[in-house]
Amino acid sequence: MSAPPAPIPDYLARLNAEQREAVETLDGPLLVLAGAGTGKTRVLTTRFAHLLMTGRAFPGQVLAVTFTNKAAREMRERVSAIIQRPAEGLWLGTFHALCARMLRRHADLVGLTSGFTILDADDQMRLLKQVMAAGAVDAKRWPPPGLMAVIQRWKDRGITPDRVTPAEDTDFAGGRARSLYAAYQDRLKDLNCADFGDLMLHMVEILRNHPEVLAEWHRRFRYILVDEYQDTNLVQYLWLRLLAQGHKNICCVGDDDQSIYSWRGAEIENILRFEKDFPNARVVRLESNYRSTRPILAAASHLIAHNTGRLGKTLRTGRNDADGEKVRVVSLWDSEEEARMVGERIEAAQRSGHKLAEIAILVRAGFQTRAFEERLITLGVPYRVVGGLKFYERAEIRDAMAYLRVLAQPSDDLAFERIVNTPKRGLGDTAMRRMHEIARAEHIPLASAAAKLVQAGGLAGKARAGLSDLLHGFARWREQMGREGHVVTAATLLDESGYTEMWKADKSPEAPGRLENLKEFVRALGEFETLNGFLEHVALVMENDENAQGDRLSLMTLHAAKGLEFDMVFLPGWEEGLFPHARAMEEGGERGLEEERRLAYVGLTRARKLAIVSCAANRRVYGNWSSSIPSRFLDELPIEHIQREGSAGMARNRVVDMPSVFTGASGLMARKPRTIEAGAWEVQARPSHAAPLTVGERVFHKKFGYGTVTAVEDNRVDVNFEKSDPKRVLDSFLERA
Ligand code: ATP
Ligand code: MG
Repeated sequence: MSAPPAPIPDYLARLNAEQREAVETLDGPLLVLAGAGTGKTRVLTTRFAHLLMTGRAFPGQVLAVTFTNKAAREMRERVSAIIQRPAEGLWLGTFHALCARMLRRHADLVGLTSGFTILDADDQMRLLKQVMAAGAVDAKRWPPPGLMAVIQRWKDRGITPDRVTPAEDTDFAGGRARSLYAAYQDRLKDLNCADFGDLMLHMVEILRNHPEVLAEWHRRFRYILVDEYQDTNLVQYLWLRLLAQGHKNICCVGDDDQSIYSWRGAEIENILRFEKDFPNARVVRLESNYRSTRPILAAASHLIAHNTGRLGKTLRTGRNDADGEKVRVVSLWDSEEEARMVGERIEAAQRSGHKLAEIAILVRAGFQTRAFEERLITLGVPYRVVGGLKFYERAEIRDAMAYLRVLAQPSDDLAFERIVNTPKRGLGDTAMRRMHEIARAEHIPLASAAAKLVQAGGLAGKARAGLSDLLHGFARWREQMGREGHVVTAATLLDESGYTEMWKADKSPEAPGRLENLKEFVRALGEFETLNGFLEHVALVMENDENAQGDRLSLMTLHAAKGLEFDMVFLPGWEEGLFPHARAMEEGGERGLEEERRLAYVGLTRARKLAIVSCAANRRVYGNWSSSIPSRFLDELPIEHIQREGSAGMARNRVVDMPSVFTGASGLMARKPRTIEAGAWEVQARPSHAAPLTVGERVFHKKFGYGTVTAVEDNRVDVNFEKSDPKRVLDSFLERA
């Protein structure tokens, strides 16, 4: 008699048939292409554990790549829960972390030693500037950040200086980009340093040029697992392909509809490349979504169907309790009302027993967090900003605060020190030391010491002019504040001091967000009567909680929310220009718009039970009001799965009455509205009735059935339903019976 078959281990029993196929197909290349919430990450984690449980691999023989360190930590925890012991010695992490670890072993092959330093963005820029100066490149004409962006792009594509072809070259500094790149790389080596992009680039070069090293890694890594595959860039792809050539046991999971990092060099084409490079790859599709209720899923699917060129997937709910609440679409008067609405609903959720950890606010742009943070602080709701800093902790906001502190209080030495050479005014260590000496000797504030130093003529030409300009500036701005108030003055100050200009010249991907934050900062000022009132407010806000552990709400950008899930998700700011973001569309055209739509898809699919989308009809810009129109994405939601709330109709009338200013100053309002009627979108999903409905007509409503019209007011119609209570509904939801 043969032994009875071994029972299916618990961790496999928790999978559906397709997921099990993906977990148990251990040999050969495998691509899991599936929509949000279908268990891709669960598959990857279970596969990892399965490899260990079946003795296919030792922990150190599996290479697993995740998108963030947080995701790596979670995967480690889940794997160790399945194998029921601590998961140690794993090669599990982000591309960069894994590459850094590998590179330490082979540093000598690229002219580094294993103790090489990884440079941060500031150091990188400083070094590049030195290289440009040494090459006598006019940094005014050719701003270093521009070159840095070019170099980073090359690194993202795995292009070393000797591989830059004429077609790849740019006209930077008269065709010198390539040679400056080479000089920069040499300089890094001299200093035994690698920048972030080098970690990948060097490793790919080593694996390309040293077959014995490649063979060594092939022997080690029997299995490769990759999450969020749709967001890999070319150099990451090359690295994976090189490593996978050995055993060809590579499993990538991804969703083309969630590709949202093209601005950082991610190439969605890597999915198509995979099937070409691994021609016998097995492709598994997962179609059951276990995360979200049916209305949420329907809304997300309907929205993303507006994109062209998708690989196309089926997605249906796999939850037993799938019915659930419609997606809320709330339109509000302004961004403050929006923050209030969010705050109220969070408090209500808390009262009915929900944990804050299960609630998230997902914004399109970093500056949006400010209004919510202030609301949450007022309400005493603990929160964390995931993947970023709280608004008033961001570097540009601290700088701007320092400028205002000096404006309000000339003797604020700490603030003065922070901004005196930001942007660069040519003040070196010696100048700073002398300033401090004078201040100490004469017991005067640093700013006064600076004035003395200028008068004494003890500074080099550039430093002298720079410092003198700044001091005169402060005198002028103080006077202006008396005349024109603190809001306009702050805006002038940030411009005239060269501070805004500094970020405009910065070509890093973060710079535009910083500029938006600065605008939001000035907007925040407008909410206070006086400058001092504002400064005090911020000091108190900064004071808040901090070491509070415990239950907290999450606040983050949509980009940072990838792979995460929450019971209740707020998606504020769905307005044209903000979402879809004007910049994405200016730079990317139709492709940019489609990436924005994928971002909206990512946002909606983070929600398990309730998604609350909102838009404000007005935003304040430099103390003025600017009206905005609802995002086109709202028109793209299926009306039968959403429930509209709020003051849209009222907003429509008030928008027309409001003195609306399209100053363009916000940068967000670059698009002219399609229509001034903010409420029009309510009915755009269906054509309006050719002739208005009249009292006494028999009508049909999808949800409430047949009824008779009793009153008509604009597009609102009162109906006596035959099988339901009388209701007031929008005419677009009615058909003539
Ligand atoms: P995303 O595309 O957002 O990264 P995903 O495809 O990686 O999503 P997971 O995060 O792995 O999806 O899973 C979504 C949710 O569904 C998780 O809470 C997970 O635990 C649950 N889940 C996955 N598979 C199953 C299953 N077979 N039965 C029950 N729940 C499941
Ligand atoms: Mg996932």
